[in-house]
Amino acid sequence: MTFQALATDVINPDLCAQCGLCEAVCPEGLISCRDDTKIPLLRDHAKVEACGACNLCAEVCPGAEPDTPRSELELFGRTRRDDERWLGITEEILGGRAGRADMREASASGGGVTALAAETLRLGLASAVLACGRESARPWRAQPVLCTNEDDLIACAQATYQLSPHLSALREVLQSPRSSARIAVVGLACHIQAIRKLQRHPSQIGRRARQRIGGLIEIACSSNTLPKGTETFIEAEMGIALDNVANVKYRDNGYPGEFAVVTKSGTRRAEPVWRAIRHFKDFKTHRCLSCGDWLSGLADISICDGDPNIFISSQDAGLRREKYGSIIVRTDLGARIVAQARESGRLEAWSSAVAEDLHLGLLRKRNRRAFYEGQQVAVPAGPIPDYHETISPIDDDALVANPAEAKIGTRTGEGAEEERWAREKPPVRLDMCTEADLNAISPRDILLVPFGSFEPHGHLPLGTDRLICEAILTEVARRGTGLWLFPAFPVGFNFKYRGWPGSVGVSSHTLADIVESIARDASRFGLRRLFVMSGHDENREATVTGLREIEYSTGTRSIYCDWLDLAVTLARQISTSRSEGHASEIQTSMVQFLLPGQNYAPIPPAKTVQTGCGQTRHARDGHAKAGCGKAGIALGADDLFAEPESGEWIRSVDRRPGQRSLTGDPTYANAAKGQMIFERIVTRTLELTSALGRLDLGERP
Ligand SMILES: Cc1cc2nc3c(=O)[nH]c(=O)nc-3n(C[C@H](O)[C@H](O)[C@H](O)COP(=O)(O)OP(=O)(O)OC[C@H]3O[C@@H](n4cnc5c(N)ncnc54)[C@H](O)[C@@H]3O)c2cc1C
Ligand code: SF4
Ligand code: SF4
Ligand code: SF4
Repeated sequence: MTFQALATDVINPDLCAQCGLCEAVCPEGLISCRDDTKIPLLRDHAKVEACGACNLCAEVCPGAEPDTPRSELELFGRTRRDDERWLGITEEILGGRAGRADMREASASGGGVTALAAETLRLGLASAVLACGRESARPWRAQPVLCTNEDDLIACAQATYQLSPHLSALREVLQSPRSSARIAVVGLACHIQAIRKLQRHPSQIGRRARQRIGGLIEIACSSNTLPKGTETFIEAEMGIALDNVANVKYRDNGYPGEFAVVTKSGTRRAEPVWRAIRHFKDFKTHRCLSCGDWLSGLADISICDGDPNIFISSQDAGLRREKYGSIIVRTDLGARIVAQARESGRLEAWSSAVAEDLHLGLLRKRNRRAFYEGQQVAVPAGPIPDYHETISPIDDDALVANPAEAKIGTRTGEGAEEERWAREKPPVRLDMCTEADLNAISPRDILLVPFGSFEPHGHLPLGTDRLICEAILTEVARRGTGLWLFPAFPVGFNFKYRGWPGSVGVSSHTLADIVESIARDASRFGLRRLFVMSGHDENREATVTGLREIEYSTGTRSIYCDWLDLAVTLARQISTSRSEGHASEIQTSMVQFLLPGQNYAPIPPAKTVQTGCGQTRHARDGHAKAGCGKAGIALGADDLFAEPESGEWIRSVDRRPGQRSLTGDPTYANAAKGQMIFERIVTRTLELTSALGRLDLGERP
């Protein structure tokens, strides 16, 4: 066996991930990676005969066979289940960002990676961290860098969407017989797979890898890009000559950031990151396009963007966004690094989850994987033997479409809303129907009834609750069939803000009566299924009472929900302020999405708030951690993050005019978050209405 095995099995079928490990492990120093393509080849004058009986490079290469199940057995004592296909085996999932402001600022998604890498140095777990920097002679080219302090790490922060033989920088530590170095690694899935494979290898180099490499932190990877992608973007799209480039950053300046070039004269030029992502599409390798892993699942800690769709977020430059990441802890070592980093203040973290179905990078990866699995071509092995993607692939071009060409994305810009609605079928609005139209009602059809409230919402309109429910059910009526939309009821039962200027409500028995009357009369002309959505939590008891009465007297079946009931998990995942309810970050995000161009400027929270149980805390602290679930000024019982109580005290809520009618910190709101929540609720409502439509009216659900 010789280098020939690597060429035959990996390089020739285009399965080289360009990780650089073969260059690092070769005892004879025969391999180097080509400057343009980064593909390994034998050095000038090296002969394959020099390999002798060695086969090391082929045995540790992750290109064709990442060998995930064996590494999982070694690390976790088991392999992943089908439902763990893309995220792997997880111990804990957190949202998080660096504690240091300069680290956050320098980073791609909040600096969680940089903070945790810095923690491995502080704890003495590593003497250096392998990260991704730049060549000094060609500052637009990626190059592995061994960082020995926090400043080096900060200089290497942000995603670098460019292939480089990352692991080649481990050559010295692997080849030196007496190195005392211990290296932590930041890398992509293929880098981590390569290291785990090497650490399982029975050779001397494998033993050194076990002893000298530890603390593996991986970042999610949709796909990487050849250096040519960066070069042509700078030259052709930005009009900058490469020899005039002093520095390149891919996620610079805020969130999700810009592709920025600083020229030798000190001028900074930047393009939104979505333009670069689109451009890079044409500079991928077959290995990256057919890659079976978004995360290897083999690192001690894995991190992806907290915002699942940076592509869409980057299309709206006017939005305020906060950087944060989703941190997946996998091993004991990972848990220790995270715990110590939280304790030292390097990392701010809160419990969270990864919304797999929303991550654009993961969706693109699954699509491509599904496509290549269906072709007669070699693809790298995935983490579960014989597992095949079942989704029907969508054209990748459509997933990262230019909004100007494809007319998709957030509903921004003049006329965008009209355009969208004109393109697609209108909803059936009952108030616009004639008597004759009612002949089309079928017994399985459903009446959609939005209920709002009329009350102060801090910086948001008084009719916010009606506006949100009406928009959701209008979209549901448009997308579904057999759905009849009733006009939104603009007032509800007000309690907490009763007596405030702008508060107009009805009594709870009037509300129950109204719901019952609508349902009774609609049942007379054939609509005996009701879907009631409220935007106001105080409507719940009265509305449900009315619906129960009508079910008893007429057999009309109904579903009641508050709109946020249908997206609680997602809201918890994407809420940065960690306190959600009235006029909060999520509600403000919905209004910003639904009313683009209207300036309902969020009010920043007070520096500290007095909670109902007498604790004072910073408004941006996650109060779930504070352990306070009692009603108070900022921690209302309507707060999504409030902890449940075992019994409920009925008391007057201390909310008087002059105080602030908002929860959490709405300045973290943005339309992209609103769009995600809106889409999730519309989808979920369509599922529920479909179930309601199938129900036999004689049955109990
Ligand atoms: C090619 C590529 C594709 C990605 N695709 C996705 C995706 O689909 N979905 C998603 O959620 N996130 C993706 N990410 C990761 C994401 O962009 C963020 O890097 C990640 O969320 C970490 O953010 P952070 O602020 O915590 O990291 P930071 O604190 O900014 O640190 C990032 C660290 O990663 C290292 N690094 C950057 N680029 C590379 C590289 N090419 N090779 C090795 N190390 C590198 C840096 O040196 C730095 O140490 C991708 C990143 C890359 C490089
Ligand atoms: S995948 Fe890595 S180890 Fe395998 S050939 Fe490519 S650079 Fe070498
Ligand atoms: S690692 Fe071994 S087989 Fe591979 S090129 Fe070097 S000597 Fe040859
Ligand atoms: S797509 Fe796969 S092979 Fe390509 S860089 Fe990412 S993890 Fe490595």
